[in-house]
Amino acid sequence: MIDFCVLGSGVSGSTIANILSKKYSVHVFDKARGPGGRSSNKRFKNNLSFDHGVQYISPKSKIFTKYIKKLHKNKILKTWDENHLDFTFEKKTFSSKYIGKKANNDFIKYNLKNVKKSFSSLITKVSFNKYFWEITLKDKSKYQFKSLILTCPFPQLKKLAKKYLDKKILKLNVQMQPNITVMIALKNQKSLPISSIKFNDDILAWAANENSKNRFKSNISLWTLQATLMWSKKTINKYKIDKSIMNQLITRFIKLTGFEKNKIIFKRIHGWKYSYNYEKTPYLSLWNNKYNLGICGDWFNGPKVENAWLSANDLAKKIK
Ligand SMILES: Cc1cc2nc3c(=O)[nH]c(=O)nc-3n(C[C@H](O)[C@H](O)[C@H](O)COP(=O)(O)OP(=O)(O)OC[C@H]3O[C@@H](n4cnc5c(N)ncnc54)[C@H](O)[C@@H]3O)c2cc1C
Repeated sequence: MIDFCVLGSGVSGSTIANILSKKYSVHVFDKARGPGGRSSNKRFKNNLSFDHGVQYISPKSKIFTKYIKKLHKNKILKTWDENHLDFTFEKKTFSSKYIGKKANNDFIKYNLKNVKKSFSSLITKVSFNKYFWEITLKDKSKYQFKSLILTCPFPQLKKLAKKYLDKKILKLNVQMQPNITVMIALKNQKSLPISSIKFNDDILAWAANENSKNRFKSNISLWTLQATLMWSKKTINKYKIDKSIMNQLITRFIKLTGFEKNKIIFKRIHGWKYSYNYEKTPYLSLWNNKYNLGICGDWFNGPKVENAWLSANDLAKKIK
């Protein structure tokens, strides 16, 4: 029997799977078609792609900075420090922005290189029967493991594993905020020496110029647009049926940048229902000895990749 089942191939799932796989057998399952979770990448065509989740990593703590610098040295990550415009004029200190060499799930792929993994594998049920865990996938297939690690956002965790969570965990006030993201490609658009734009606007928060990441050369311009929190909250439950939502965000981008709408050859919307938790819980991760159940994820301690990574490392220490 395999030692650990890890639900989720995002930052926290891939990090804990990588650490555990040095000592134990591990199998990672993800409902998505590829690795990355909220740090995944959407291919448009050939090597043209959008980072439609995580935009960049700006490490803060010493330990995470050391890890990121190592990935930079190993050429898994590179810096993205060109022209970042900020029309909110918020006072901030400069920090390096790291991105994947080819995509923002590069370091996740690197973490999972030698780990057994299954994609398009939605776990619909988890049950513990005294000696082992049994997980059931959407296609009704079943697998048994000695231990289980869950890395999904808090609302999904509660739905899947309520029976095995302490009351104090179930009572946590974790508010995961939504985000609406739109990807567009424009033909023959004059290229701009701009990497990203932070807008001072009620609908559009941020736009990333994918071409500025120097991963591909093309006369097609790729932009990833992120909506403001307020507007995302208003639209997250209706963007799939109301097609005008995608167009409203694009129209605002066109108005604010002066790009030409008729040059758009591709557009797609993605709604992230559980993007970030801005608050901290009293925990960094959880390990339950009675059930051999581990829980980690960014939602324990903040809204960034760094929080997910710290949570996974904290859980690894508890398991050891
Ligand atoms: C639009 C957006 C932009 C962001 N930008 C940045 C940024 O610039 N910098 C930064 O540091 N952070 C950013 N973040 C936050 C960052 O993405 C997260 O902090 C981090 O990726 C969380 O990783 P995680 O592993 O904890 O969770 P996730 O990435 O959510 O991983 C959970 C995984 O579990 C899988 N899963 C869930 N339920 C099941 C199930 N039942 N069965 C199987 N699989 C399941 C999911 O598919 C997912 O892959 C951004 C987030 C969003 C949404």
